[in-house]
Amino acid sequence: MAQNVEAALPDKYKNMSEWYTEILERAEVIDIRYGVKGFIVYRPFGMILMKNIIKLFEEELEKTGHKPFLFPVVIPERNLRMEKEHIKGFEGEVFWIEKGGYTPLEERLALRPTSETAIYPIYALWFSSYKELPFKGYQTCAVYRYETKATRPLLRGREFLWIETHNVYFTEKEARDQTVEDAEIFYKVATEKLGIPFLHLKREEYDKFPGAVDTYAFDTLLPDGRVLQIGTTHYLGTNFTKVFNVVVHDEEGNLVNPHSTCYGIGLSRILASILLIHGDEYGAVLPFDIAPTQIVIIPIYKAGFENKEIDKYCNEIHESLKNEGYRVIFDNSEKTPGEKYYYYDMRGVPFRIEIGPKEVQTSKVTVFRRDTRSRETIPLEQLKEYIVKTKDEILKNLREKAEKRLKDNIIEARTKEELIEAFKKEGRKIYKVFFCGRKECADEIKSVLEGLETRGTPINEKGEGPCVWCGEPGHICYLAKAY
Ligand SMILES: [Zn+2]
Repeated sequence: MAQNVEAALPDKYKNMSEWYTEILERAEVIDIRYGVKGFIVYRPFGMILMKNIIKLFEEELEKTGHKPFLFPVVIPERNLRMEKEHIKGFEGEVFWIEKGGYTPLEERLALRPTSETAIYPIYALWFSSYKELPFKGYQTCAVYRYETKATRPLLRGREFLWIETHNVYFTEKEARDQTVEDAEIFYKVATEKLGIPFLHLKREEYDKFPGAVDTYAFDTLLPDGRVLQIGTTHYLGTNFTKVFNVVVHDEEGNLVNPHSTCYGIGLSRILASILLIHGDEYGAVLPFDIAPTQIVIIPIYKAGFENKEIDKYCNEIHESLKNEGYRVIFDNSEKTPGEKYYYYDMRGVPFRIEIGPKEVQTSKVTVFRRDTRSRETIPLEQLKEYIVKTKDEILKNLREKAEKRLKDNIIEARTKEELIEAFKKEGRKIYKVFFCGRKECADEIKSVLEGLETRGTPINEKGEGPCVWCGEPGHICYLAKAY
């Protein structure tokens, strides 16, 4: 069926919410009509994109010694209740299974909101000697949280996809170093391969993962000026290994609790960030490596010239690019070229090759580049080289634009007056201030400045000064409104 060419999308910087709703539907990323609040359907385009993102992270995790495993989705209530801070943090968000068929269960089962309490009782059985450590394990799965805030597709759902690692170390140093490696893995994939920049922050004490000693988070900036947490890594100390009785003997034969970390990679949110940060009024703009379709070939038939000639030329190009291992489509369907352009632009296909009589007669190809929306006609024999070179340029272009926007949206404020004044003028941005670390100050800032939250201390910047709110000694902290 021919699809009509619809109007362009709204400006995402002016109306992000509408832009986002439109693209999810028009590009067929997900279906929001499942009928259960907070649950969505990943359509084939969205799921292929997701699998390509997952692959990049899994490769990086396995390169750094992480082994895959899969734990059950249900967690017995007694496990979940063992770590006191942990259950306090999650209790209000747990989905419970209470019955099997007609029979009430002897013990309620939780749908995992995160898997520490599923995994540690088994770790207690797996490890007995320091020689078995470190152990680095991960799983890619869905987790369930009964969100009471308004849900938004991919950004905040009651079911979402993530990768979680659960690592165990003999020493504190190794465990703390892991949180640094986690950030490096995140940078390698999110920024270097997906073009998504982020702030690497240490969360404030009152804002840590329930049960963690230290929490580090990765926040990116969305077009509406809000930040989105897309990953976190936590040093858990011996909190979980103690509670779940994970014990190993050291060289002298003493029994000790090892140290542990966990790391969450927010896959659903990363997918949303890629769409929101790189997209434009024509739809998604995707880095070549993750695009479900990387190249589309479109014939431009003309009266007075044999269609068969054009098809033959297109077929040859199609075969040769397929042999290079690219995901390439030759679309000679009934739709008009304009309808096809609309369709593939919306889905972020990085390269479109247009072939008309002129290209066939001169052995050339016209290539349209999705990110810059520019066209170039080049000799056919240079096509492969062009793609290899230009796919990297696309990523570089997307990344640089996103990095510049993040940098340009950080505003410094030294005093309460300066901060209030700046917020009045600039609205939703990231504010760089000194902050005392007290929750009372954070709560006041949040209520006075319409939801502005303390997001934590940047890892790569050191500095001290008087708290922007109360004047007491403080550290550098970023403030932003968050999803
Ligand atoms: Zn303060």
